[in-house]
Amino acid sequence: MSGAPRLTIDLDKIGHNAQQLAQRLGARGIAVTGVTKACLGSPALAATYLAAGIASLGDSRIDNIARLRATLPSVQLTVIRSPMLSEVQEVVSQADVSCNSEVDIIRALSHAAQTQGRQHQVILMLELGDRREGIMPDDLASYVRVTIAMPNIVLMGIGTNLACRSGVVPDANNMATLSSLAGAVETQVERQLTTVSGGNSANLEWALSEADTGRVNDLRLGEALLLGRETLHRHALKGLHIDAITLHAEVIESKRKPSQPCGQIAQSAFASAPVATDRGIVTQSILAIGQQDIDPADLLAPSGIHIKGASSDHLIIESDGALLPIGSEVAFLPGYSALLRAMTSPFVKKIWKPSYQWSDDSQQSVINPATVPPQKPSL
Ligand SMILES: *Cc1c(COP(=O)(O)O)cnc(C)c1O
Repeated sequence: MSGAPRLTIDLDKIGHNAQQLAQRLGARGIAVTGVTKACLGSPALAATYLAAGIASLGDSRIDNIARLRATLPSVQLTVIRSPMLSEVQEVVSQADVSCNSEVDIIRALSHAAQTQGRQHQVILMLELGDRREGIMPDDLASYVRVTIAMPNIVLMGIGTNLACRSGVVPDANNMATLSSLAGAVETQVERQLTTVSGGNSANLEWALSEADTGRVNDLRLGEALLLGRETLHRHALKGLHIDAITLHAEVIESKRKPSQPCGQIAQSAFASAPVATDRGIVTQSILAIGQQDIDPADLLAPSGIHIKGASSDHLIIESDGALLPIGSEVAFLPGYSALLRAMTSPFVKKIWKPSYQWSDDSQQSVINPATVPPQKPSL
């Protein structure tokens, strides 16, 4: 027994996903920047991406970038969220590239790069409809003019990010806009841009279709590599594993209970309580995991198991048939938001397969799968 709750991360399956996508996109002239943020900049994940043929890595958090840098002195690392003004020194010292949309921050990066005697590469992010980060297209030329004049800053390219805040679909239109803006910038600076970064896992439907991918030569991919799905409809991608990461939680109570609450109803621990319909007596179990560790709405349960609610530390499920034994485990497939929380929760153990020797001490101890006794049957 290796303890519960736990995430099991199968790096062989993730490596397969990464290799498949790197190859299919490579055939269309698009390189993959492997995004590690959902696994907190894990060096094991990074090593898996690199072995699969991905040449550059990205993360949104400087702590994760520093963790990657500690084991990868010469791999290109990109900070994919705009740096904070308060962290520009570390961004310049740890990363090679950052995505930017504010002149004040690029100027601070330039100052930091001058102090450190380094060059820092910048990707200017464009707002193309999702209304998250990015420069309005009409303002791009002036951002380019200011950026290329800054000492120790190299304009590496442009990029955009869709489908994250508003679900705006990367399509032929907005991707063609990005390509034509790349052309306009190249005319302005009189040289080729290294990178035109089209987006994230939501771009795969577009990138792997027959569509003309234009000037886009990079995608920043996280979820698709880890969970084997595109992210517009969460459809499984052909030939990829969707079960590379599993979550096990343990049963601490199992009883038959009325399906309806009894008493006056006000708020529950997390805002309003759902209206319960009377389904008579149900077979209910409690798993020792909760809102602090997962997003209960983002777990795929095995057939016959139904997620009914969650508070901070309790996940309430109903099962068809017999009572689940106390101490037994239920295995779920986490979606991205459940994965993000579980990875970040110190209460969820992480089992990396094949076991990976961490090269820094801050990580949890290595558990070698070979020494773990067979697990209790999962449901
Ligand atoms: C998180 C993130 C990505 C990766 O997104 P996935 O959906 O995990 O592929 C790419 N670009 C930016 C700017 C991000 O913040």
